[in-house]
Amino acid sequence: MRYSNYFIPTLKETPAEAEIVSHRLMLRAGLIRKLASGIYTYLPAGLKSLKKVENIIREEMNRSGAIEILMPAVQPSELWEESGRWDYYGRELFRFKDRHNRDSCLGPTHEEVITDLVRREIHSYKQMPVNLYQIQNKFRDEIRPRFGIMRCREFLMKDAYSFDADEAGADRSYEIMFKTYNNIFRRCGLKFKAAEADTGSIGGSFSHEFMVLADTGEDYIVSCLNCDHAANLEKAEVRRTDDEAGSVNEKEMGPLEEVETPDMKSVEKVTAFLSISPDQLVKTLILKANEEVVAALIRGDHELNEIKLKNMLGAEQLELADPQLVAEATGAPIGFAGPHGLTMKIIADYAIKGMKDFVTGGNKKDLHLRNVNTERDFHVDTFGDLRVAMPGDSCPRCGGEIRFGKGIEVGHVFKLGTKYSETMGAVFLDKHGKEKPIVMGCYGIGVGRTVAAAIEQNHDKDGIIFPITIAPFEVVILPLQMNEKEVIDAAENIYREMSEKGLDILLDDRDLRAGFKFKDADLLGTPLRITIGTRHLKNGQIEMKARSEEESTLISLQDAPALIMEKVDKLHDSTK
Ligand code: ATP
Ligand code: MG
Repeated sequence: MRYSNYFIPTLKETPAEAEIVSHRLMLRAGLIRKLASGIYTYLPAGLKSLKKVENIIREEMNRSGAIEILMPAVQPSELWEESGRWDYYGRELFRFKDRHNRDSCLGPTHEEVITDLVRREIHSYKQMPVNLYQIQNKFRDEIRPRFGIMRCREFLMKDAYSFDADEAGADRSYEIMFKTYNNIFRRCGLKFKAAEADTGSIGGSFSHEFMVLADTGEDYIVSCLNCDHAANLEKAEVRRTDDEAGSVNEKEMGPLEEVETPDMKSVEKVTAFLSISPDQLVKTLILKANEEVVAALIRGDHELNEIKLKNMLGAEQLELADPQLVAEATGAPIGFAGPHGLTMKIIADYAIKGMKDFVTGGNKKDLHLRNVNTERDFHVDTFGDLRVAMPGDSCPRCGGEIRFGKGIEVGHVFKLGTKYSETMGAVFLDKHGKEKPIVMGCYGIGVGRTVAAAIEQNHDKDGIIFPITIAPFEVVILPLQMNEKEVIDAAENIYREMSEKGLDILLDDRDLRAGFKFKDADLLGTPLRITIGTRHLKNGQIEMKARSEEESTLISLQDAPALIMEKVDKLHDSTK
């Protein structure tokens, strides 16, 4: 591509609206432009990058045996009513009425449409397994669209749906997608983790989020430094240590005592007052799970993970009780609840198991209890992993050291099970002629978000450092003096020869100052730069520099094609 005939409107100034680096750089490098909140146009260079990611996805999906289709973006409300999501999806769904006053929406995802297709077309186990995918714009009226194309309201997604005759088949389909996603993100040049994720209220299923590690990510992830284990913080299991603590002998327990704690409602205040450490106190949280009031016990230095509790209770809704409910349930204002004497269901974190003579609230204003012990003083209905993982914990798989970090979710694999096939009647006849619901999986990738995440992970103060596989161009050629015939000839020759070899090249043939061209080249982040100027050309040399490296090398004009090709191949190798 010749820059002079192309359209890359770079910006000198940093746009004020952009909060994170990928957004800033995508605007500055002329990759995208905003039309409205969360709605963006891809300019030519941005589109090239998007298409490269799309092609990698398509190649890997096809290689996995998945089959491409294209479903409509416009979806009738009836299907969403059938699945129960017309109400459940809430305001993120872009809804409208057509001229016949029929409710419709713009698809944020396609479980309903694909399940409808499949229930009409698949009737026998012989037609499965099958995995159908599409690459198409999705619409979500996000509450807080931000970070450019990272969280927008119209975005390109690859979504795939697998259909199997049984659980084992569905697990295989999941495994294939899991591997395929690893291939895709590796080929995109990303550093990523497949993190175990919460599956929400869909019981018995499992899910992984593919997370690009970046400080600006909106998700917290926990990953092991020793093994492959990684998990979203909301799901991250805590390694049990209560077994090591052993059981407490009743003879060694201190006598239960009341202690006045005037106005002391926080862990900090109570522990300071009693001169104990937070791990000697047990917090009692009163919650409403659906319509039932429950108490959750957590050690003073720990934090309740509400998602874990919700899953454990199998509750659709879980919220902390309001002050009135706490008063009704415990007889005391917030800050003084304790398990002693409570009649509701009590669920305790594993860490409480081995504790002895701890402090709890006394269910009376300004009162705490000392020397409280499980079983002697109250009964725990269930112990479980209820707390948020924290620094100092070790890996639940191997016991190794864990690290906390932030991540950007670029992809999601999800075993759906029979949730949609049951509610929407997608059934088939098995080998014995018995009717069964199809077992499904769904698998998404944010195509635009992948480009943005790659930039978030690969940049410096001067601009983007694109992984070569998804860069708008692989090579940029900068002729420095546009009025020198030799310079132009050399640039044109390399451009022609290398283009014929299949390289994707930008020839910056603009009649601009060298400094200007260098700045734009760095900003756009083309992986390999070839600079041609009179100074070295008179010795038959040109300069080659990788965007990711500090040093440039002089190469002879004669050897240039071979050396450029070799370097490009090397840059590609890092993504293989
Ligand atoms: P998030 O938690 O970030 O909202 P999600 O769980 O809603 O994501 P999925 O429904 O699993 O996302 O969608 C599949 C993929 O689509 C995500 O992994 C992400 O890469 C991408 N994606 C989701 N929402 C957006 C958005 N608003 N803008 C751009 N890409 C998105
Ligand atoms: Mg979302």
